[in-house]
Amino acid sequence: MKRLAALMTSAALLATQTGLAQMGAPGERPTALSAAPGPLAAKYKANADKILAAALADEEGYAHLAYLTDHIGKRLSGTPQLNTAIAWGAGLMKQAGLQNVQVQPVMVPRWVRGNESATITYKGEAGTIVKPLHMLGLGMSVGTPKGGITAPAVFVHDFAELDKFPDSEVKGKIVVFNPGWHGYGIGSMYRTGGPSRAGAKGAAAVLVRSATGLAMQIPHTGTLRYVEGQPKVPSAAISVEDALLIERLAKEGPVQVHLEMDAHMEPDVKAGNVIGEIPGSEHPEQVVVLGGHIDSWDVGQGAQDDGSGIMATFEAVSLIHKLGLKPKRTIRIVFWVNEENGGAGGRAYRQWIGDKIGDQVAAIEMDGGAEKPLGIGYGGFGGSRRPAPPAPGVATPSAARPSFDESSLPPDEKQSFTTMRDIVSLLGAIGTDTVSPGGGGSDIAPIVADGVPALSPRTVAEHYFDWHHTEADTLDKVDPDSFKRNTAMLAVVAYVLADMDGRLAGRKGDLHE
Ligand SMILES: [Zn+2]
Repeated sequence: MKRLAALMTSAALLATQTGLAQMGAPGERPTALSAAPGPLAAKYKANADKILAAALADEEGYAHLAYLTDHIGKRLSGTPQLNTAIAWGAGLMKQAGLQNVQVQPVMVPRWVRGNESATITYKGEAGTIVKPLHMLGLGMSVGTPKGGITAPAVFVHDFAELDKFPDSEVKGKIVVFNPGWHGYGIGSMYRTGGPSRAGAKGAAAVLVRSATGLAMQIPHTGTLRYVEGQPKVPSAAISVEDALLIERLAKEGPVQVHLEMDAHMEPDVKAGNVIGEIPGSEHPEQVVVLGGHIDSWDVGQGAQDDGSGIMATFEAVSLIHKLGLKPKRTIRIVFWVNEENGGAGGRAYRQWIGDKIGDQVAAIEMDGGAEKPLGIGYGGFGGSRRPAPPAPGVATPSAARPSFDESSLPPDEKQSFTTMRDIVSLLGAIGTDTVSPGGGGSDIAPIVADGVPALSPRTVAEHYFDWHHTEADTLDKVDPDSFKRNTAMLAVVAYVLADMDGRLAGRKGDLHE
């Protein structure tokens, strides 16, 4: 773990761990290793071609995604829609002929948004401005007292600027963060960690610029994480434009914020991970697991995040089964639950595996949207959690990424990259024949931390964070052709990993725990 860590900044690592390395900074692409055909390419060419042809002709996968998004819709943990989706997903797996279909019980939190609004008032020499903000409360936030909070804004770009204020100048005020856009790693760090950082200095509430590079007056929600022992302050995301307006006005004079949020927690609700299998023909106890998360935020349709992930992985497994391919190891599809605001599904899966962790041969998570795929990310180092906010005085990590140096890897990992380049050489016809360092996801993080090799699709990542966690994450954002290519790539990779002699190397450990 440390070897690779030394090669990458923490921001880049965090991005790779969330399977989103290609989104680390706008316009940046991960270092990709090109395909290099070898013995696996020769052995699996015929079956891979069959899979590719079937996946490119397949219309059912996208039709399932359309049903999930249009007819079931958004599915936040604890809502009836989530449990409708879970029952529907289990039915789909049975209908596809998968074996051992089950819903593994998982208790999930129920956070309720309720009514919410925010308005700014500026009174300066040039006149008075009263403007409602485009806002969405952050997931798991507490609400405001009835009638809301009205307080002066304290505008900062980052934690270092906040720390420069004496606590007395923050106490009772509403801290507004605009860290700019330097990739999702940094954006989400201010969303998850900002509320407690400001709460610790006595702030009454927090507004944070949405974690996106696209300014379209659309707020992006997402979870926050309160630090145990610190005051819990109500917190909301605001649009990029509104954050910039506050920044400009705050330079001219005092800005007041009025924030009202009814957000609250209700008792946990029973939900579950949906699981199905193609049992292995020779080593059924050995498992290649793939999937995504079935829950979403309470806005939009959870189409790219992560309807596309569960439907592309499901269709990949379904096609392998339909083609009558019988891999030596078990291929398991999992729709994990509660990725967005708790991670209970991933933890429950790890617990269920128990001491059989050594039989988890590989874990593939798709949670970065079904944009045009470029190849597969493979890492093997553990963890997917966001980094803790930097300590006071520590500079915000840079999104710069040094190039990947394969030669510095230990022999088993070097060999695994060679194996992966051999496998992806089967994917030239769909333009996904690259392997990049990284791979992983929140749901598989608990098993990856115990050394299970992690993989995830790499895409062009042009628009994922334009829609992520917004009302605009709807079916129309998922291009059918790109969806098929993701399905095709996942099916070939999962099939070969489940059938080949030998297995990929993983790494134990978790960088951020
Ligand atoms: Zn997701």
